[in-house]
Amino acid sequence: MRIGIGYDSHRFSAGRRLILGGLKIPYGKGLLGHSDGDVLVHAIIDSIIGAAGMGDIGRHFPDTDPRWKDASSIEMLRDAIGAVGERGYGIVNIDSTIITEEPRLSPYIPDMIDIISKTGIPEGALNIKAKTNEGMGFIGRGEGVVAISVALLYSGR
Ligand code: MG
Repeated sequence: MRIGIGYDSHRFSAGRRLILGGLKIPYGKGLLGHSDGDVLVHAIIDSIIGAAGMGDIGRHFPDTDPRWKDASSIEMLRDAIGAVGERGYGIVNIDSTIITEEPRLSPYIPDMIDIISKTGIPEGALNIKAKTNEGMGFIGRGEGVVAISVALLYSGR
């Protein structure tokens, strides 16, 4: 068994769609990023890559690579699960938290789990939590969103 942690943060920006957990969420602004800015999926990817000891998301999806420009983070996650799978690793479970003052995300979590799980995560193996930062700091001021994730992998070899 191997464990990995993932952290990501993205800044809110007017004129962007808000994509979280692969889901388009109606809100007045979205997250800035080279890809779709899906901070939750990026944290999940980093936790999986980290658990496999394969570096980080930037090594697998360099922002200089046009293949991943405006890419769907869900496709990046599918690619990452494939890459750790080639090394003999499978997912035991993933637990994650999104931290944002707005919008309220709990109604969207079941759909996020459905969308993210289709990339190759076993049923019941993905947990997503959402919370605010109690008004404190850059999250509290609504400047951006943070996500953290831990992933546990088993080795099939
Ligand atoms: Mg990111």
